[in-house]
Amino acid sequence: MQQNSGNGAALRVLNHLVNAAVAAILLVAALLAALFFAWSLQRLHALHEVEEQLAVYQLALSAVEQVSAERGPMNGALGRPSQSAPALDAARRRTDVAFEALRHGALACAACRLEPYAFAAVESDLQQARLLVQTLLGQPLAQRDPAQMALAVARMFGVVEQEFRLVDQLGQDIQRLSPEIAVPVNNARLAAKLRENAGRLGSLLTVGLATDRDLTNLERQRVSETLGRIRQLSELLQAAIVPGVDSEEAKAFNRVAESYFGQSMAFFDATLERMARGDGPTPAAFAEAYVPPMAAIVALRDAELRVAQLRLDRLKDKAWWALAGILAVSLVVVTLLSVGVVMLKRRLLSPLLDTVHRLIGLTQEDTTFTPTAPARRRGGYGRELRMIFAALRHLEELLHRSIHVRRERDALIARLHVLAGTDHLTGLPNRRTFEQRLLQAGAESGGSMLALVMFDVDHFKQINDQHGHEVGDQLLRQMADRLRSTLHRPEQAARIGGEEFVVFQAVARPAEAMAMAENLRLALSRPFSIPDHGTIAVTASFGVALTRQSGKLQAQDLLRRADQALYRAKRAGRNRCELADFDVSAYASRLEDEAARLQ
Ligand code: GH3
Ligand code: MG
Ligand code: MG
Repeated sequence: MQQNSGNGAALRVLNHLVNAAVAAILLVAALLAALFFAWSLQRLHALHEVEEQLAVYQLALSAVEQVSAERGPMNGALGRPSQSAPALDAARRRTDVAFEALRHGALACAACRLEPYAFAAVESDLQQARLLVQTLLGQPLAQRDPAQMALAVARMFGVVEQEFRLVDQLGQDIQRLSPEIAVPVNNARLAAKLRENAGRLGSLLTVGLATDRDLTNLERQRVSETLGRIRQLSELLQAAIVPGVDSEEAKAFNRVAESYFGQSMAFFDATLERMARGDGPTPAAFAEAYVPPMAAIVALRDAELRVAQLRLDRLKDKAWWALAGILAVSLVVVTLLSVGVVMLKRRLLSPLLDTVHRLIGLTQEDTTFTPTAPARRRGGYGRELRMIFAALRHLEELLHRSIHVRRERDALIARLHVLAGTDHLTGLPNRRTFEQRLLQAGAESGGSMLALVMFDVDHFKQINDQHGHEVGDQLLRQMADRLRSTLHRPEQAARIGGEEFVVFQAVARPAEAMAMAENLRLALSRPFSIPDHGTIAVTASFGVALTRQSGKLQAQDLLRRADQALYRAKRAGRNRCELADFDVSAYASRLEDEAARLQ
């Protein structure tokens, strides 16, 4: 029973262990899912920041474009005598709008690292350049100092260069945060630079055209430098845009090649030749032919920005899908894990533990096992488990039968054992049992004296003869009953022959043994009532033998001496008690010991 409760505790511990393992696995899975989830969110956030930066980048490029574009009407106005220049005013308004938009965009963009003073510096330079232009426009055309006009143009260049520093800073941040869109972002910057240099190239001719002269050496040198930069930018763009591919970028680049490098450049070369001949067009006429094809460069810039935005959108989509995927996978993993563990516990672990429990119970012959929660087993176990249970049931049945058979056999053996040691007529122990008990009593007597009283019914043969053997038997049974009721310890009596009985008892002295024999003799001499035969009185003759004080009990010798005393009682006239000879000296020494102890 204790072992069973021990097994129960072990099962509970195992169950707790499984629960703990499941909790740990779920925790790790949840942690991993949380990590992936956080990483995905971070990625989405980064892409969102890039998107904001890209919008500001676009505004900055647009501001660059507007300042570049403002130079066209500015140059035109400087070459005309009129003070008012509505085209220039309109261009300036467009620039201001672009600046305002950029400032707003940059303020709203937390991820953009643009310093407010950077705008202030750009705007201040722009205002100074505009002031200089206004001063010049206020003068008559002839008095306008070419050096001052060149300075105004240079200041406008300076504004664009400062703007490009903002663009570069934004572009680097975007490329660092999202290298996947680095190429189109950089291409947009290259296209913007191309647009700026194309504008500058035109501007370099403005003073010459306005004053109707050929280019100075310095101007030629600048033209050649600017052409070099334009070529370089064009090559960089060509290398970055895969040629021959039917993409928006490739198409936009081809249009730049056709419009700007084809039309504008051809007109530019022709203008240079005409200027050399002193036949140059007016600045306005030059701008009219040279400027419009440059729109293709701005279109290329915008195409690159669209590509960047498109790729960014795809990256965002991917990040959203990854987030959704992580959520779905975590959910599936946690569900599968939970279901798997529950199934494992329900369908395998619990039944197996029950089986173990049952097997342990069987080894202890405990067949009373009942599963703790049979209702939870609905749906059954696997085929193998069912086979195990079938085998187990069979084993239990076999064990039941075997236990039953063994118990019956044991009971039978015990009964046979009793019968073998019992006298069948009287139910008293027989001679064999008596001798065993006598020997055992001798071993346990601890040195005290044992008395053996043997008696034989007198003239029993006559009773048989007179009343029949059956009455004789009845008489023997009644004598046994009386013997049992007279003795303090009836188990120490036995029937050892036909009408011969013995009794042993521990005694302190011979007289005690004789008194017991005498007591028995008187008890048995009282008549017996036999149904249908009235009363029958019998007598018996008694022989009493005593063991020696020391030494191992000699049962046969004791029986023999009691028998001899009994024989003497028969010869002396029957219905009496006789004491057998015994070692008087041993008895005397024992008496002395006792006397010494009493003093
Ligand atoms: P005594 O002992 O006085 O010398 O005379 P006795 O007649 O008793 O002689 P003995 O002891 O030699 O004979 C015993 C008789 O007891 C012999 C037999 O018929 C009878 N007897 C022995 N066993 C049984 C028994 O189990 N049942 C019956 N009814 N009689 C038995
Ligand atoms: Mg006899
Ligand atoms: Mg007799």
